[in-house]
Amino acid sequence: MTEHSPVPEPVEGTDDEPYDVLIVGGGPAGLSAALNLARSLARVLVVDADRPRNAATLISHGFLTRDGIPPHELRRLARAELAAYPNVTIRSRERVFQLQADGSGFAAEIGRRAPELTVRAHRVLLATGLRETLPEVPNLRGFYGVTLFSCAACDAWELQDRPLALIGETPDLAARARLIARWTTRLTVFTNGADTVDTAEEAELAAAGIAVERSPIAELHGERGALTGITLADGTEHAVEGGFVRPEWETDLSFLPALAPDLDAHGHLAVDRAGRTSVPGLYAAGDVASPGPQQLIVAAGAGARVAAVMIHDSIGVATAH
Ligand SMILES: Cc1cc2nc3c(=O)[nH]c(=O)nc-3n(C[C@H](O)[C@H](O)[C@H](O)COP(=O)(O)OP(=O)(O)OC[C@H]3O[C@@H](n4cnc5c(N)ncnc54)[C@H](O)[C@@H]3O)c2cc1C
Repeated sequence: MTEHSPVPEPVEGTDDEPYDVLIVGGGPAGLSAALNLARSLARVLVVDADRPRNAATLISHGFLTRDGIPPHELRRLARAELAAYPNVTIRSRERVFQLQADGSGFAAEIGRRAPELTVRAHRVLLATGLRETLPEVPNLRGFYGVTLFSCAACDAWELQDRPLALIGETPDLAARARLIARWTTRLTVFTNGADTVDTAEEAELAAAGIAVERSPIAELHGERGALTGITLADGTEHAVEGGFVRPEWETDLSFLPALAPDLDAHGHLAVDRAGRTSVPGLYAAGDVASPGPQQLIVAAGAGARVAAVMIHDSIGVATAH
């Protein structure tokens, strides 16, 4: 470990014996790591605020053997499996408020609404996912996760061949449009007033039969999450039957200011191929560390891989198998 700053006095209580691993975040990345660490006899604590990124959606796709499963059911099944391992503790609907170095390991302040307990661990896995900010479009959230999605690989199958919208304000909008055009020939890009598709890109999209609308969006129409139309500020009406939105994604790492691990160009945690951050003993897996694809099974795979690496590192062996 590197030089560590002193740990503040414990808040209320202390869970005295250090855990082998503290996992922050109980999505597919964190829970998959917990399962594999448990099976390697590690004493594991999972602290999970229980606010998964995909909470907006009713059905998840693309997870082998679980295609079409509700997101909460996938988590329930994972936790039920973990219940068979007495060396795993899950603290649900609690969060880590502060994480810092402590001797040769780490100390975390955890609790529901405020720090209530200090726990210590030799190693920490960050699996906290991403936060999303949707474009500022009136009533967009009412359609998100039902007929408006962010991940084409996850949800475009159900929307194929329909007239679709792509709503976004980021510079990768034209590239995303070309991807979504794989599933439909009737696609319109809505920049919501942002100047993000340049004229060369617009010409390229037009050649592929994709129109670009630059006027701000005044209103989305539809009932019970089923998007049926878009009205622009210039009065133009578009009939659509769903589509995609490009949120802004950001990590929330405000609970570890003193550790300051390196970030990549997208603000995600920078990790090596094994999931090690720039801080010794601190690892990351899932959306918080990955430029993509941001998918459940990819996050679960990253969790399994980092679990093996944490065990290898703890005993100082380097093996790929
Ligand atoms: C609308 C939508 C639909 C999607 N549909 C699909 C799909 O069909 N198929 C697919 O493969 N992928 C889908 N995804 C992507 C998928 O949800 C993510 O790739 C996946 O959830 C990433 O897993 P994760 O474990 O990294 O993070 P998450 O699942 O987001 O879990 C992170 C957990 O960490 C917790 N946490 C955060 N900060 C703290 C803290 N300080 N202390 C304690 N806990 C904390 C959060 O509350 C959360 O429970 C979808 C995403 C969205 C937004």
